[in-house]
Amino acid sequence: MAHIIDGKQFAANLRGKMTKQIASFKEQHDIVPGLAVVLVGEDPASQVYVRNKGKQATECGINSIEHKLEETTSEAFLLDLIADMNQDPAINGILVQLPLPKHIDADKVLNAIDPAKDVDGFHPINVGLLSTGGKGMIPCTPLGSLMMLQDYHGDLTGMNAVVVGRSNIVGKPMFNLLLQQSCTVTVAHSRTKNIEEVVREADIVVAAVGVPELVKGAWIKPGATVIDVGINRITTDEGKTKLVGDVEFDSAVEVAGAITPVPGGVGPMTIACLLYNTLVAACRHNNVEMPEA
Ligand code: NDP
Repeated sequence: MAHIIDGKQFAANLRGKMTKQIASFKEQHDIVPGLAVVLVGEDPASQVYVRNKGKQATECGINSIEHKLEETTSEAFLLDLIADMNQDPAINGILVQLPLPKHIDADKVLNAIDPAKDVDGFHPINVGLLSTGGKGMIPCTPLGSLMMLQDYHGDLTGMNAVVVGRSNIVGKPMFNLLLQQSCTVTVAHSRTKNIEEVVREADIVVAAVGVPELVKGAWIKPGATVIDVGINRITTDEGKTKLVGDVEFDSAVEVAGAITPVPGGVGPMTIACLLYNTLVAACRHNNVEMPEA
């Protein structure tokens, strides 16, 4: 039976450490890191995410600024708001909650954020810095996944990693992060042939596909570590809804050496890493080292 990697606990520990770091940052430099979150429209899932982000930021000692805008907000208004926040020294991180209403060009908006304040790590400059090994902002979900892998394994050098999924927000940055850690990395996707055999080669499997329970226990090499990024809401035979990952947990837990559950695995780490990125950005903006915990 696999070791269960408890993302909820890991995220709570990380937030606890950051709370101390932020307190000493404030004490030493008289600066409170600021995170601005922009929500356009009434999407219920986005409202929950934004509320959680704001609550957790505040609990850690970050100044959380929320801009809740009408669904009808124009692209020009949003771009002006971002330009103002780019100039505001009290704001270290800017996050625009996706999806945006259809009349707004999401790429144009994300690209308008100052890369040094882009705590989501989606700006092309940060994408480039990650792939060239520079000092950019790293997307939160892959960063949280890497932190859990490093905590469990220590050094990842030489391990065979397979990332299933090649999206810009998870699969590709995960590939770059694992490559930086000197893993031998394969990226599988919807056109990959014999995907089960490809996955079976992996010491580390990261599943980010958005297909409920795609990766079966029989695909996993015995003893491998499985990071399940997927969040899928399904309806059970009894008509209830529940969250499942992209990995079939019940069969995979029998074969893997370690596995993240859904919920309670990668999900909680994503918000914790957003706060982490805000602290990193605040230190860089003020040319100071990351404080000790
Ligand atoms: P995307 O839809 O952007 O990308 C999915 C990727 O999976 C694509 O590269 C696609 O391949 C590949 N894929 C789809 N079907 C198959 C298949 N049958 N076999 C192999 N590969 C396949 O998804 P995201 O990366 O945005 O998200 C992936 C999952 O992670 C989702 O469940 C999402 O909810 C979750 N997620 C969780 C987060 C968290 O905080 N835990 C944060 C972000 C996402 P191709 O390119 O060929 O189409």
